[in-house]
Amino acid sequence: MSHNILIVEDEPSIREMLRFSLERAGYSVEDASDAEEALEYLSQKIPHLVLIDWMLPGLSGVELVRKIREDKTLQELPVMMLTARGEEADKLMSFERGVDDYMTKPFSPKELLARIKALLRRSGHDESGVLEIGDIHLDTRAHRLSVCGESVHIGPTEYKMLEFLMRNQGRVFSREQLLDHVWGRTIYVEERTVDVHILRVRKLLAPHGCDSMIQTVRGAGYRLSIVES
Ligand code: CA
Repeated sequence: MSHNILIVEDEPSIREMLRFSLERAGYSVEDASDAEEALEYLSQKIPHLVLIDWMLPGLSGVELVRKIREDKTLQELPVMMLTARGEEADKLMSFERGVDDYMTKPFSPKELLARIKALLRRSGHDESGVLEIGDIHLDTRAHRLSVCGESVHIGPTEYKMLEFLMRNQGRVFSREQLLDHVWGRTIYVEERTVDVHILRVRKLLAPHGCDSMIQTVRGAGYRLSIVES
């Protein structure tokens, strides 16, 4: 699965340069030229990472980050900020508001790619195909689950559910969204089925005390998170 990155940049030449470097590195890329367009996109789809330019017309990049962090489905979305030279105080402020990393313009595309890779790894999107969150270790190539170093047998649907939740760590999904992502839109499955499979995943994790990582968010759905709700 290629990682999806959203670029938010108003300058067409920089946007194209970013798209070119990221696509050449194997990422799939979407772009927005301002914060409003980015928020519209994020209401439909959650990328693996968002790259935001500080200076945007209308809402600034920092304000966009604040809005992203206010949205509970986007709280753990990795954010990389692009800033102009010499805005140290501003940079500090942007970290407080939930920016994970930043690059100062002009930057080398090579360094940007290295930072993006590191940020994706920190957020559990490892390119080796291994997802590791807390004591849960999922080898997505071999389809193997191990918890606290012990191999655990997992059924195919539970596997897909766990992989999806791990790839989207911290984000809340409704039963309907989980049905779409795990079972696909083409088959009809009752929403209750989601609860049954969530319960099974929790049972697999329970002997190792990791079942609390699959959390029920009242009125909203489910999420996987290390942080107890
Ligand atoms: Ca700009």
